[in-house]
Amino acid sequence: MSTSFLYHTFNIQGFKHKRERYEGSRIIFETEAKPGSFRCACCKSYNVIRKGGQSRDLRCGRISGKLAFLRFFSHRLLCKDCGACRQMKLSFAEPKKSYIRAFSREVIGLSQKMAIQDVADYLDVSWHVIKEIQKESLRKKFRNLKLKEVTHIAIDEICIGKGRDFVTLVMDLVSGAILYMEDGKSGNSLELFWRRLKRSGAVVEAVAIDMSPAYHAAVSKNLPDAAIVFDHFHVVKLMNEKIANLRRHLWHKADSHEERNILKGTRWLLLKCPENLDEEKGEWPRLSKALELNSSLAIAYYLKEDLRQLWSQANKEVAERFLRAWCARAEESGISVLRKFGRKLLGARSALLAYYDYPISTGPLEATNNKVKLIQRQAYGFRDREFFRLKVFASHDLSYKLVG
Ligand SMILES: [Zn+2]
Repeated sequence: MSTSFLYHTFNIQGFKHKRERYEGSRIIFETEAKPGSFRCACCKSYNVIRKGGQSRDLRCGRISGKLAFLRFFSHRLLCKDCGACRQMKLSFAEPKKSYIRAFSREVIGLSQKMAIQDVADYLDVSWHVIKEIQKESLRKKFRNLKLKEVTHIAIDEICIGKGRDFVTLVMDLVSGAILYMEDGKSGNSLELFWRRLKRSGAVVEAVAIDMSPAYHAAVSKNLPDAAIVFDHFHVVKLMNEKIANLRRHLWHKADSHEERNILKGTRWLLLKCPENLDEEKGEWPRLSKALELNSSLAIAYYLKEDLRQLWSQANKEVAERFLRAWCARAEESGISVLRKFGRKLLGARSALLAYYDYPISTGPLEATNNKVKLIQRQAYGFRDREFFRLKVFASHDLSYKLVG
């Protein structure tokens, strides 16, 4: 081993190799700083004198199975120009770290294939050391998220953990990258995003959101020229909730035991797509019995099935006629929940039909939900929110292993 080996392997400069020492599974490179390289850490002046110091060992990574360390005497230097008295500055390590930069690079490389704990075990350091190195690298990577080219986005909230813990996410629908993540699910959670977007000069054409008034108001205010597209999965989900409520209401209202029995267990059948009904289990006969018994349930059921067709019409004009006809049928049904829902959809028609100009949805964002939840569980999301957020950003290009 030599000075040149240390330079080419670990990029260590300004130090002279003296000898190796083998201590169990460790290999220690004993070195000393070349006096000519002493500079003031403050003003960079060479006009310095040594004022004590201490011996230090910095981690270098693994060499042929052994854990390599760099040992040297870290001088305190008194600057005769500016008067500062500081530890000598190293070109190959950050101040106060127990490892050199080459070690961080090895950690980042391994992190692409291994979970944090595995990297920590392999390099014989704690989970936190690996986490901090990843965090620093992710911070650098996502410090200046480019928003300038963003044209189509989706905004949605997801529930993480068990309680009422929500985060709002913004996704670039063209690249699939997560652009923003913030706690909460109100329009306020987006404040910082609007500021960044404005600064970037991006021209957003379309935004996919659910029907929540909070997001609608926030998008209209901050992106007045962008088309708002109500996500169709959310609309169908809302309709399903109406059906479930109606069934519950009918169940409570039912006066005979038999009637209740027929309604019992039909909730999932009502929400299922008819093509998914299980023939062997006799799901369709059970469902149709319940529908025969309750005309209002039947009307709601067929309206629900028809609503799904709103997004597969030939064009926007046809779709608008379809929607108006649907809303008229809901109105005529005389069933209060359906009438209310029909009026709501009619009021929201421009955002519903905007789908025909911009066929986008929050679906891709929905698909990242499981990833986010996985990261949240594995990456100690609740303890270090910033790290959690950075891992979510990184989940897009998978340059880091998703878990651990
Ligand atoms: Zn100085």
